[in-house]
Amino acid sequence: MKILVTGGAGFIGSAVVRRAIANGHEVVNVDALTYAACLENVAAVSDSSGYVFEHADIRDCDALNRIFETHKPDTVMHLAAESHVDRSIDGPKNFIETNICGTFNLLEAARKYWASQGRPETFRFHHVSTDEVFGSLGATGKFTEDTPYDPRSPYSASKASSDHLVRAWHETYRLPVVLTNCSNNYGPYHFPEKLIPVVILNALHGKPIPIYGNGSNVRDWLYVEDHAEALLLVVRKGEIGRSYNIGGENELSNLELVRAICGILDRLLPKTNSYAEQITFVADRPGHDMRYAIDPTRIREELGWRPSVTVEEGLERTVRWYLENESWWRALLERDGVGHRLGVG
Ligand code: NAD
Repeated sequence: MKILVTGGAGFIGSAVVRRAIANGHEVVNVDALTYAACLENVAAVSDSSGYVFEHADIRDCDALNRIFETHKPDTVMHLAAESHVDRSIDGPKNFIETNICGTFNLLEAARKYWASQGRPETFRFHHVSTDEVFGSLGATGKFTEDTPYDPRSPYSASKASSDHLVRAWHETYRLPVVLTNCSNNYGPYHFPEKLIPVVILNALHGKPIPIYGNGSNVRDWLYVEDHAEALLLVVRKGEIGRSYNIGGENELSNLELVRAICGILDRLLPKTNSYAEQITFVADRPGHDMRYAIDPTRIREELGWRPSVTVEEGLERTVRWYLENESWWRALLERDGVGHRLGVG
């Protein structure tokens, strides 16, 4: 495949880029390099003959049209987004502009280019989305692909809107799309404003480890490399017009997750007292969804995907990676808003 990846300098997009190049595909990485981007995430593949970087914003239609015409991709994997719920509470405008209008621009540029090529059935537009579009679960049940949309934050509402646009472009214009909705990812290169890197880095720095509310909110954690593998499988083998839920079947409350990370640090970098003593409960996020859980039956039964890493293994790999890659995360701590409490409403 010749894949146009948007957001390939971010956390999940860079995992897709690294894996796609390793699997022998060509990649055009389109990224605006916002505060959340880091080109070091793709440094391992940036000298590969099949890799090109395009510094462009998906809000810029002319740039998108030029990129399609120049590189003539046969596949689009759309990951560029504003992705931090707390930032969406403080400043929803960017989320509307990038996640909704940017997706609209990309769909239109893809449709124009696809038409110019004679509307090949082999073309794919893969929209990468989140399980947060389904809202919040109670103590039981899981999200399936048929769960009604019920987004509750500016971030999830903007992602839900973009999902609707992508489906509409398939129904109306027959653009060959596939969609995926994934649970919470974690792993190497996770930007240090998200929960797991915050926990690791605050623990290392002897700072309070913040837990929103009472820590009972549950998330279904998936190792980022397993997500990247699933995305590359769906884009090749998924049925046109269909969506696939992706999840690790690894439900943990935030408190269980943070305690597990502290336990790993206690083993790998022991000090006189446990890192868990740094846990501090802070004011909850407004509208904080209680529980997310994915039913991955469709992707497992139709495409044969299952995660390769348990949450215990994945968390240990992640903690080790942060311990070994201080030069990566230290520079990012200086970026705007990182290390400050955001999204208190
Ligand atoms: P991220 O914030 O780490 O990276 C986003 C990337 O998009 C950055 O490199 C940024 O520079 C780029 N970008 C932002 N606005 C842009 C614009 N206007 N034009 C071009 N590039 C732009 O995000 P992530 O965690 O890697 O998430 C990637 C995608 O996966 C998002 O669409 C997100 O909604 C989805 N997703 C994330 C998770 C998760 O747990 N992180 C789970 C499910 C789905």
